[in-house]
Amino acid sequence: MSARTIMLAGGGHAHVEVLRRFGASPAPGVSIVLVSPDRFTPYSGMLPGLVAGHYAHDEAHIDLDPLARLAGGRVVRDRVVGLDLARREALTGSGERVGFDIASLDVGSAPDMHFPGAREHATGVKPVDAFLARWTEVRAAAIAGRVGRIVVVGGGAGGVEVLLAMHHRLVRDDPPRMPRLVLVSDRSNLPAAAGRALLARLVAAGVETHLGRGAERFDADGVHLEGGARVAADIVFCATPATAAPWLAAAGLACDPRGFVRVDDNLRSPSHPFVFGAGDCVSQDGRSRPRSGVYAVRQGPPLAANLRAAATGGALARYVPQERALALISTGGKHAVAVRGRLCVAGRWVWRWKDCIDRRFMRRYRVDA
Ligand SMILES: Cc1cc2nc3c(=O)[nH]c(=O)nc-3n(C[C@H](O)[C@H](O)[C@H](O)COP(=O)(O)OP(=O)(O)OC[C@H]3O[C@@H](n4cnc5c(N)ncnc54)[C@H](O)[C@@H]3O)c2cc1C
Repeated sequence: MSARTIMLAGGGHAHVEVLRRFGASPAPGVSIVLVSPDRFTPYSGMLPGLVAGHYAHDEAHIDLDPLARLAGGRVVRDRVVGLDLARREALTGSGERVGFDIASLDVGSAPDMHFPGAREHATGVKPVDAFLARWTEVRAAAIAGRVGRIVVVGGGAGGVEVLLAMHHRLVRDDPPRMPRLVLVSDRSNLPAAAGRALLARLVAAGVETHLGRGAERFDADGVHLEGGARVAADIVFCATPATAAPWLAAAGLACDPRGFVRVDDNLRSPSHPFVFGAGDCVSQDGRSRPRSGVYAVRQGPPLAANLRAAATGGALARYVPQERALALISTGGKHAVAVRGRLCVAGRWVWRWKDCIDRRFMRRYRVDA
């Protein structure tokens, strides 16, 4: 190990910026090791567009290897499954121990799959690679006329976006029998104006909606709702609320009641000051915000600055997230809804605006060979 080793767990939205910044301005005496199971990390803003067929895989994914190389970092192509904080080591799925002086966590979240039968009969929208692999299979089966009903459980922005993207793609595939698309949600987390605009798009697409009652259990025939009703399904995807990886709390890190790692305004763990974090896997004390890529992206620059300061002895910067962020929600075709607080606008121009923002974001992380 060199003088100071920073271990980055996960190549999420904040860590790509950390890598970019250390690449642009190396810190002498500091070495970086990235532990990531994937070489290509998905950009959440373009995920629905990838499902809808507007983007190719490479357009919607960031290649972590050249970014890590530019930062002079080592890549361990594996998953962190535990942290030994006393010895300052990360444990990987293959049994390797990766030593560090400072750790940073940006491993994202996974949809809630605690319902009986969910793991056997449904696929979560995260991890994204497994979701995309399943979507490819489902599409092929639909084109062959073998899929009658596809249910998405979870009526937040992610669930609605994915469902409308699937609808858009399948209409263009023109299967002999268009699958019925169905949305199940106990409630919508969307602001009222955006909720109305999106509901109108769901109705226009002929989506069957079951709103107000959550899923209770899953079996081979479909989804059983609270109160006893059953929604028949051939295929079920879960876009349920984000949950934290259990190994975070198991490591002994201070966590919120849902198991997300607590961080202070320096994006640093209050229980273990040599651990930092960003994105979906953390909860910033006293600053509850929705879990979205927008906030993870914004945390990238202060996280990079604070990792550098922690490794080289500088002062840590405070990061206060904005109260409200602009959400740009795509609706299947090249159309999107923009919402900020109570303001909501929609149209094809909103999609073009979103597309511009997303492509500009992706260009920042493209390293020319
Ligand atoms: C369908 C859908 C659509 C969405 N659309 C939007 C949108 O349009 N705009 C928006 O702002 N947000 C959107 N979101 C939310 C957004 O995806 C997340 O908030 C965002 O990805 C969080 O970023 P992150 O950096 O925390 O984690 P992620 O982007 O999930 O990155 C985590 C990384 O860590 C890796 N990883 C996971 N576990 C481990 C481990 N144990 N060890 C090492 N590495 C690991 C993963 O492979 C991944 O590369 C959407 C979510 C969904 C489900």
